[in-house]
Amino acid sequence: MTPGFSFEVIATLGNARAGILHTPHGDIETPVFMPVGTAGTVKAMTADELRAPPLDAKIILGNTYHLYLRPGLEVIGGAGGLHRFAAWDRPILTDSGGFQVFSLAGINEIDDDGVTFRSHIDGSKHRLTPEISMEIQRVLGSDIAMVFDQCPPGDADEAIHELALARTTAWAKRCRECPRADGQAVFGIVQGGIDTARRLRHMAEITALDFDGYALGGLAVGENLADTYRILDEVAHQLPADRPRYLMGVGTPADLERGIAAGIDMFDCVMPTRNARNGYLFTSGARVNIPNNANRLDFGPIDPECPCATCRTHSRAYLRHLYLAKEILYARLATLHNLTFYARHVRRLRDRILAGPH
Ligand SMILES: [Zn+2]
Repeated sequence: MTPGFSFEVIATLGNARAGILHTPHGDIETPVFMPVGTAGTVKAMTADELRAPPLDAKIILGNTYHLYLRPGLEVIGGAGGLHRFAAWDRPILTDSGGFQVFSLAGINEIDDDGVTFRSHIDGSKHRLTPEISMEIQRVLGSDIAMVFDQCPPGDADEAIHELALARTTAWAKRCRECPRADGQAVFGIVQGGIDTARRLRHMAEITALDFDGYALGGLAVGENLADTYRILDEVAHQLPADRPRYLMGVGTPADLERGIAAGIDMFDCVMPTRNARNGYLFTSGARVNIPNNANRLDFGPIDPECPCATCRTHSRAYLRHLYLAKEILYARLATLHNLTFYARHVRRLRDRILAGPH
């Protein structure tokens, strides 16, 4: 692995693993959920709030596509990289921009060299190639960079999948040869949709390139949940045992539990942060839809089992009022709660692996 990085598995339970990913910016206990900091901020949270227990986020994610378009590399490079720009001293993983280009931007052209697209912000024309994506991630200075891949939609036909796979492998090889920031690790991405044989074939191609870790991409992109889980069960545990395994962009608390059981170590998803802002709060019981009238006179916390500052301090009735009044404090309190719920959920599952079979 890249100097400064190492990964140790300290306990297993079936295919599930509890481990520690050592990085130059600190150790990350795995399984881990990474809050998504799309534009250099985990929306509504300060760096201090993210670091403070019980949330205690050990790593966050940044989006190459968004940061490249706004504020741009001149600004982030001028600040000395994303850690300094965002005042975040713990690890950062950046995606390659591929997923956003294929899902958000107006695609002009995909060819074997890269993708030409139009910005979702102002329609301006840009190009991403494996080399450009790695250069952006080098300037951002993330601890973990992701290879540039082509993620086809869940319902893509055979020919599109095969073309995307061939490109993703060729692009992974090119990413591997690119200059990196000091101490920057690179993860490969396994595509292949919901066809197990195709996934395993692509896994063999990507793992042969010897990356610092491996991700499963192209899941939860519109396919049936049963197919997502089948691929997880059939593929995740076959990824190299001595490298961290990352399931990109997934998902619900139940998805995380399923992924961990299948052998996944790292997750990211906008669900806890986005749902919080939209009024959906996760609890150890039923999910709370905060605007519901049932919360109008409910002076208890969102989740009596949650140790976050929101639950220790404020009632459902107060949060409902803030939400309906469109007070900005609502987004902050709700996000802190949902991220704390996800962090504790994954830590509980880790503790279960450490405790062993009963
Ligand atoms: Zn809470």
